[in-house]
Amino acid sequence: LSENRVLIYIFGASGDLAHRKLYPALFNLYRKGYIKDHFTVIGTARREWTNEYYRNNVLKSLEELPGSFNQKFSFIQHFHYQSHDVTDSKHYDTLRELGESLDRVYETQGNRIFYMAMAPEFFSTIAEHIKSQNLLSDTGYNRIIIEKPFGRDYETAKALNDSISKAFDEKQIYRIDHYLGKEMVLGLLPIRFSNPMFEQVWNRKFIDNIQITLFEALGVEDRAEYYDHTGALRDMVQNHIIQILALLTLDKPEKLTAEALRAQKEKLYEALRIYPIKEVAKKFVRGQYGSSDIPEHEPAYRSETKVDPNSKMETFVAGEINIDNDQWRGVPIYIRTGKRMPEKQTRVDIVFKASDQIFDKPADKTIITIDIEPTEGISLLINGKKIGLTTDPVGYQLSYHHSAEQLAEVLDAYERLILDVIKGEATNFSHWHELEATWHFIDVIREYWDNNAPTDFPNYKSGTNGPEAADQLLKQSGRSWVYNP
Ligand code: NAD
Repeated sequence: LSENRVLIYIFGASGDLAHRKLYPALFNLYRKGYIKDHFTVIGTARREWTNEYYRNNVLKSLEELPGSFNQKFSFIQHFHYQSHDVTDSKHYDTLRELGESLDRVYETQGNRIFYMAMAPEFFSTIAEHIKSQNLLSDTGYNRIIIEKPFGRDYETAKALNDSISKAFDEKQIYRIDHYLGKEMVLGLLPIRFSNPMFEQVWNRKFIDNIQITLFEALGVEDRAEYYDHTGALRDMVQNHIIQILALLTLDKPEKLTAEALRAQKEKLYEALRIYPIKEVAKKFVRGQYGSSDIPEHEPAYRSETKVDPNSKMETFVAGEINIDNDQWRGVPIYIRTGKRMPEKQTRVDIVFKASDQIFDKPADKTIITIDIEPTEGISLLINGKKIGLTTDPVGYQLSYHHSAEQLAEVLDAYERLILDVIKGEATNFSHWHELEATWHFIDVIREYWDNNAPTDFPNYKSGTNGPEAADQLLKQSGRSWVYNP
């Protein structure tokens, strides 16, 4: 295992993302030896903090992680803090000078990562100043990591991309979608493309429908300022769900390289059917949570802190997506995501068409279920013979799940993706062309929804599977959700 040399600028170092995800991920990379003596972090945010205060703050974020106090203590010595106002050019000069001196101290060979862990409205300003105040190194690499959301629609995404592109080439831009770092999402291609018995039937001839579910048990929590202007469609569908959909349906790439995979994804996105505006109401359902039966425990969305009491924002989406190509024409891909669902669950169900029946009793549908979180594994529902004096078919459930011990050993999503950026590995990041295509798809739905305000919100109770209309979406063609907690 060789150590990587890098200087990471974190813009938004006092924020929630940095605290909950980035510092723990970096510590785990340190603990496992991917970064060691020759890495350093410059954290920036508005507040005036000392290095010591900042380091203690980083230390707190590691409380629940394995590792000795000494190891954690050595780790935080690599962190440096600089207060910063994103619009003040002079501050970038200070950041450059600090970077240059730390580059010498830690011998990072001029390798730089700029992590945008702030509200997206600042991304352009920061990227422009990184260029104008010359924070880019000319001895090592320069890479920028952009958090979601990447725009609110095609226009804003394009404007953001144009301004970041003034400072960074496409190859230097890493748009992070942490679902793409999850073990079983990464597992989709091996499942599809290294099992002949799946590979041969992975098409419209054998598959009846595909279901993708991303359920969150929590409500909006303390993120209302962001969420009430964003909604579930932009927050979950444009990125995570469509990425999973692409991995489930794209054509086999010749090799697993970033270029080959992107080419197949782009081809797939071109085949996504963009609905004419009048079809949206038939194909997509939105919902907003009301309280549970105990409102003090689980208040309605509109009663949450900082949510507009008349908010029309959706906290739930279900929809049918169609892919117009030879492999998938006519196979509905149902997607569903929501807050305050009965439990946290991300999974995919692939439902097969029934075989021609020769038995008296009809067989169950054959289903492949891929569990992405919180458990990670795969199960198959296949048909066998019921035991005893009968020839009736009956469902057999076969399943494999990674154990908690196994999973504790591997890199989690943020660790893996940050390490990918350090190594310059772009396979699990989205290209601008992918964003263009997915925003075009989303924009039509958003436009219809924005012009036709919901009249029935809230339309589902906290702790339930969402509005009745989400079930109707499938019932109208005689289908139903496989996962029904
Ligand atoms: P946050 O509000 O907790 O943190 C924002 C940070 O930006 C703070 O450090 C703050 O000091 C700094 N900041 C704000 N205005 C500034 C200014 N004018 N000058 C200098 N610094 C300024 O936000 P967050 O939840 O950490 O989210 C950061 C980014 O990550 C956002 O793009 C968000 O959409 C994305 N994201 C967050 C999460 C999450 O779980 N928190 C998940 C996915 C994506």
